[in-house]
Amino acid sequence: MGTNRQDYLIRATAANEFIRAFALTTRGVAEEARTRHHLGPIATAALGRTMSAALMMGVDLKNDDDVVTILFDGDGPIGKITVTASSHGTVKGYVGDPSVILPPNAQGKLDVGGAVGHGQLHIMKDIGLKDPYAGTVEIQTGEIAEDIGYYFAVSEQIPSVVALGVLVSTDDYRVREAGGFMIQLMPFCPDQIAEELEEKCRTLPSVTEMLREGGTPESILDRILGDMDLVIREKIPVAFACDCSRERVEKALIAIGAEELDSLIAEGKPVTLNCGFCNTDYTFTEDELRALRSRAGRP
Ligand code: ZN
Repeated sequence: MGTNRQDYLIRATAANEFIRAFALTTRGVAEEARTRHHLGPIATAALGRTMSAALMMGVDLKNDDDVVTILFDGDGPIGKITVTASSHGTVKGYVGDPSVILPPNAQGKLDVGGAVGHGQLHIMKDIGLKDPYAGTVEIQTGEIAEDIGYYFAVSEQIPSVVALGVLVSTDDYRVREAGGFMIQLMPFCPDQIAEELEEKCRTLPSVTEMLREGGTPESILDRILGDMDLVIREKIPVAFACDCSRERVEKALIAIGAEELDSLIAEGKPVTLNCGFCNTDYTFTEDELRALRSRAGRP
């Protein structure tokens, strides 16, 4: 269990391409989210699972600039969970309340479902069209994986098995293991293949158990699809990454207009803007604000 194991994702097919499969390991991604956002254990699990799902959905997008956003809008104490993934293996995200604390659930596990609560799951795909594609379903359990599976079944008519896991150390709350897999049945998939798959998944250990025992994305898919002509198609490194920058924040400040900038300058103190996705602060002194003001034009 080396701490510098690289996070990555694999795409695969099986059963004569009636099955599409994804699997990934995301310990580094989840740990980076935890430290950036000062997440408690429940928020680490909730955000980590959602980021794994988004990464698998992201690499399925066609174009370089395409992004997918998963938004859990539940009424539970964690607030909203917002995650955006690119088509090339990067992901960023945050939760409403990073320090949410709840007693363990009935299985003695982190109560992610209780933290998310009831409400809606929105999936938005920005794929270069004028309006992004958007699908909405009711949150089923709030445990993330079941909800993503339900979304695919209802909104995209793709029967899917989704498993996601984040194992948080009880000592120091660091992420010990994180990852998941997603298996999807393509149209006209024979019933027999679907039944075989269902049977395999029924007896499967949890994702974090498999990872803890030295499992890899390859070995996890092999365990499920190894006797169904599994073909690994692609291996993609994955990482937590945000595309914010000082230049982008400057542009946003200029865009608020001269009048707003004048009132910020009149306060006579530095202004700090925070990127919610990666929790990076951008501070502008009064002089820097004046320089931006000169680029904003007349009120
Ligand atoms: Zn950022």
